[in-house]
Amino acid sequence: MTTKAFIIGHPINHSRSPLIHGTWLAEHGIDGSYEAIDVAPDGLPAFFERLRSGEFAGGNVTIPHKEAVFALCDTVDPLARKIGAVNTLVVRSGKVLGSNTDYLGFLGNLDAAAPGWSDGPDDAMVIGAGGAARAVLVALQRRNGGKVHILNRTLANAQALVGEIEGPFEAHAFDAFASLAPRTGIVINTTSIGMHGTRFDWLDFALLPEHTLVTDIVYVPLVTPLLAEAAAHGFRTVDGLGMLLHQAVPGFEAWFGVRPEVTPALRARIEATLGH
Ligand code: NAP
Repeated sequence: MTTKAFIIGHPINHSRSPLIHGTWLAEHGIDGSYEAIDVAPDGLPAFFERLRSGEFAGGNVTIPHKEAVFALCDTVDPLARKIGAVNTLVVRSGKVLGSNTDYLGFLGNLDAAAPGWSDGPDDAMVIGAGGAARAVLVALQRRNGGKVHILNRTLANAQALVGEIEGPFEAHAFDAFASLAPRTGIVINTTSIGMHGTRFDWLDFALLPEHTLVTDIVYVPLVTPLLAEAAAHGFRTVDGLGMLLHQAVPGFEAWFGVRPEVTPALRARIEATLGH
């Protein structure tokens, strides 16, 4: 019998997940499917009934449902609770288990592209305090030796995050950059700045140590202004596409029973859809 998986969202036509999972299904010769399903918010309870009937092995959840599905899952993984969002569902014996694989995607991407990135004693600098920042903080909590400084446009939002997620975290406004920069081993952009040509006009690369790694979780465009400027200053950079690819690995393994690989060919295939 064909094993079925899905991604639900509203709208859903922009999703690259069907191409990622479709590539892996073909590569491994698995009798399976992965389809994009548009589910409006008021259709979620009925969709969960479909899930409990056993029609699907599981699937992904994207905007705007990542928080709403908490109430509908039978069990939610503690890390997904910490992150405040569910992006992966697995159905087992009629029960729906929710988890979040974005933090694994973030770690998998850096481990593959910049091995040893978390070995040093330096501090980390996370720009942004929104939903994606939460997954990055949970990831850093597992790896980074030093402090994690969260710089946000609205200081109160960074402070609220520090109050919610336990860890070596400190909240700052953007103007703290100059004093924190000399101890920074990694800069991570988790805001939407970088899309549509937007950039950080306050970020002075000259203040960062030369070994600092600069990474962005925005992947449209693939080379954001932050990454382009960092590379022009001679810093190592890692783009955000790998995070999207690596977050898909645990779901595929849970539904189809094979751990897939993020290969250069897969990356090239998805990159070709980014329109640049
Ligand atoms: P979000 O919750 O809306 O995050 C908003 C954050 O961005 C807040 O910290 C906000 O600051 C800041 N921000 C927004 N506009 C700003 C501006 N003009 N100037 C300065 N700061 C600004 O969004 P999100 O869900 O965290 O997603 C953020 C980005 O990550 C999106 O582009 C998304 O596509 C990307 N993402 C990528 C992956 C991946 O797999 N690579 C995964 C998840 C998300 P305030 O608090 O001051 O409002």
